[in-house]
Amino acid sequence: MARVIGEPCNIQLFETLESNVRSYSRSFPAIFSRSRGSTLLTEDGRKIIDFLSGAGALNYGHNNHQIKAAIIEYLASDAVVHGLDMATPARLEFMETFSSVILRDRDLQYRFQFTGPTGANAVEAALKLSRKITGRQNIISFTNGFHGMSLGAIAASGNRYYRAASGISLSGATFMPYDGYLGLAVDTADYLHKLLMDESGGVDRPAAIIVETVQGEGGINVARKEWLQSIQAVAKEIGALFIIDDIQMGCGRTGEFFSFEFAGLSPDIIVLSKSLSGYGLPLSMLLIKEELDEWRPGEHTGTFRGNNLALVSATAAINIYWRSPTFSEGVHRMGEVIRRRLKAIASQYGDRFAVRGRGMAFGFDCQIAEIAAATSRKAFEKGLILERCGSVDEVVKFLPALTIDSETLDQGLEIFERSLAEALKQSWVGVT
Ligand SMILES: *Cc1c(COP(=O)(O)O)cnc(C)c1O
Repeated sequence: MARVIGEPCNIQLFETLESNVRSYSRSFPAIFSRSRGSTLLTEDGRKIIDFLSGAGALNYGHNNHQIKAAIIEYLASDAVVHGLDMATPARLEFMETFSSVILRDRDLQYRFQFTGPTGANAVEAALKLSRKITGRQNIISFTNGFHGMSLGAIAASGNRYYRAASGISLSGATFMPYDGYLGLAVDTADYLHKLLMDESGGVDRPAAIIVETVQGEGGINVARKEWLQSIQAVAKEIGALFIIDDIQMGCGRTGEFFSFEFAGLSPDIIVLSKSLSGYGLPLSMLLIKEELDEWRPGEHTGTFRGNNLALVSATAAINIYWRSPTFSEGVHRMGEVIRRRLKAIASQYGDRFAVRGRGMAFGFDCQIAEIAAATSRKAFEKGLILERCGSVDEVVKFLPALTIDSETLDQGLEIFERSLAEALKQSWVGVT
């Protein structure tokens, strides 16, 4: 089995060397050696279009050359890369740029808390801070919600498979139906309101309500504007913090920088990660309303909080893409192209499949997990990475880079269309 370092790698070696826990290398079995924009190159010379974008961590594409230039310049200058959370010019420049380009324009005011580099760690910090401020323990989260793998975050996440892997009873969260969970005729925000206001409703007063505006892992479930506004109002009325987990849907994915802008929300805490660094480097943070910044020094600490290299690329991404409305307009425009195309594809099959999404995040709900799986498999054979999501992975997920060119986008959608048709033809479950 020994391999000479530098020789082409054998995918089987990953099976023997790497833990069973690996997952994407199973769904997309190839050795990926290079990437640029929306394309990955495999070691054996195949070109693969990427509609997953690092689960939303690569909104500006792979190895974005403008952002890369800022990183290379920073590295070449021997500026501080790792400094724990010590003060550096890179840190200050990020906060000043983010404040002036993103926050000020939107009339938002927040303090920055850099957490450990994962989204889960930022969610942990948000939940801990909410509990500390309110002296309450319960967190309201929603069906199909996903907030990360650490114990606090997974306790607020719906997926049974992930929850079961915790090996300990998960407590401190109460699940409520997300928008549309009981059909569009039922306003689940009313239900939440009633339960929380009822002294005998059986739900402890929450420290926080945490919500995604579009559930990424949960199946691209899109919450309506009015519903989100009602949830915010309920949080205020009950004295709970209102947390938007914008880890996957933030940084432009839904068109605006924050996914809640369309609803005019004012969250107490905003959680950002994934595409925040703009380059796939790990960086997570909370935006906290100033009056809620009740942390004592070092109460939520970590070795890699606000890595300087990631802050440099994050600053570059904001300077390049968010100083004018052009980028955002392009995301909306391209999003409509995707929506029309997916709806046209769905309409070939009657009303069997549903298309959902906002901005450039879309889900093609196949209803049946096997259809989604077969489609994704076929797509990969034809050179397209298509991930699945939803409670049993029954939804094909579209998260192309926001910088994708229309030709590549079209090629990818074309591959999806053919892959779905083939999956339905061969699979007996597809026959109705
Ligand atoms: C990915 C994700 C997380 C967890 O982030 P990690 O970096 O994987 O810990 C939390 N919330 C949402 C909405 C996510 O999409």
